Amino acid sequence: MVEDMLTKFDLINPSESHFMLREMVRDFVEKKVELQALEHDKEEKFNLELFRELGELGLLGITVSEEFGGSGLDAISALIVHEELASSDPAFTLSFLAHSMLTANNLYSNGSEEQKKRFLPGLCSGELVGCMAMSEPDYGTDVMGMKTFAKLNSDGNWVINGNKMWITNGSIDDKGTPADLVWVYAKTGVSENGRPQISTFLVEKGMDGFSVGQKIYDKSGMRASNTAELVFENCIVPKENLVGEVGGSVLHMMRNLEIERIALAAMSLGIARRSLMEMNKYATERVSFGKPIREYGQIQRHIAESYAEFKAMQAYIYNTARMIDLESGGYRLDTDGVKLFATTAAKNIADRAIQVMGGYGYVGEYVVERLWRDSKLLEIGGGTLESHQKNMTKELYKNPDFIMK
Ligand SMILES: Cc1cc2nc3c(=O)[nH]c(=O)nc-3n(C[C@H](O)[C@H](O)[C@H](O)COP(=O)(O)OP(=O)(O)OC[C@H]3O[C@@H](n4cnc5c(N)ncnc54)[C@H](O)[C@@H]3O)c2cc1C
Repeated sequence: MVEDMLTKFDLINPSESHFMLREMVRDFVEKKVELQALEHDKEEKFNLELFRELGELGLLGITVSEEFGGSGLDAISALIVHEELASSDPAFTLSFLAHSMLTANNLYSNGSEEQKKRFLPGLCSGELVGCMAMSEPDYGTDVMGMKTFAKLNSDGNWVINGNKMWITNGSIDDKGTPADLVWVYAKTGVSENGRPQISTFLVEKGMDGFSVGQKIYDKSGMRASNTAELVFENCIVPKENLVGEVGGSVLHMMRNLEIERIALAAMSLGIARRSLMEMNKYATERVSFGKPIREYGQIQRHIAESYAEFKAMQAYIYNTARMIDLESGGYRLDTDGVKLFATTAAKNIADRAIQVMGGYGYVGEYVVERLWRDSKLLEIGGGTLESHQKNMTKELYKNPDFIMK
């Protein structure tokens, strides 16, 4: 009986509904996402129209309950969507992640009933585009050093001053049109032990003092995802737009980073799978010195090592996702761990795919060079490799028993 359960258990599609979701997204990718990926990368254009179609499929609020217009699904489902979309267009997927995980899921977990009713239906349908603003020009990894400050006015409203940098979806076009809703982390004071107090504010398009500073052009990869600097200059935010308690945001910031990291790892998995598929196919078709190149040992090494790494990524990512409760934190060791391992593995697999495909691999039409460029961002965004190493070593100092589990 137990043996039966073990052999039938499917880690990557644990239920029929996970399987169906994967099939649905694969179909959408094949019919819609793939056709536009290369062109949008070349033109550095975010495909807002296609993004809104994700709302029609119920994907933009994948982890938000149905009551607020979402699909009420779990972490595994969210990863399935990230993996499938990223197997074709990681940049489009990055914009999806910033909206669905960093904004909608964050709001669903931490917002008040009133805030959820006000914003979630629009975020889930795609009528509103959301983004999350944490990083600053001078503070990335050292996030607690942030300078953006929110001060309470005598009328009970807040005034925000500061700049946020590298914000995915910060601008939705080339005209400097901001996202509709920005989840902004700002300092609101210092606690008795000298730790900065961080609070969250929902800044809406059109609020006085809020603007797009610049859309950032000429990125190496993720070019079809808009990245922007946002400016808050005496930006007045009504008290209803403060999320949770004043100074109470560090916890939900850390919890959301865990979700972000595992979703970015799932994107790496999509990149790795596609790169492996492409190199495997090409190695059969390409003949050199009278034989398909897959018969040469050096090519076999590229394919076999990539396959083994891909399977290891897949197991670690979905096993971690299986353990995660989206409502609570405390999974830092493995959410950092999957991102640390999967992002570099994906970059290496994409790199090997280019190598196997020779000159063709180096050209946009053959997909893998775009995946290679996109994969590099995943070693930086949502936490650098070095930050994962730092966090994991800290966790293992506090809890050496994790190694035995
Ligand atoms: C395309 C793109 C999209 C992004 N989207 C968003 C977004 O939507 N929202 C958002 O808030 N941010 C976003 N970011 C920002 C991203 O999260 C940061 O770039 C990242 O956290 C690193 O910060 P940084 O660039 O300031 O580098 P830094 O933190 O300055 O790091 C520079 C180098 O120093 C190393 N380093 C720093 N501190 C340490 C240390 N203590 N020990 C060892 N090494 C260290 C880093 O690992 C890195 O190698 C995005 C970035 C990019 C490029």
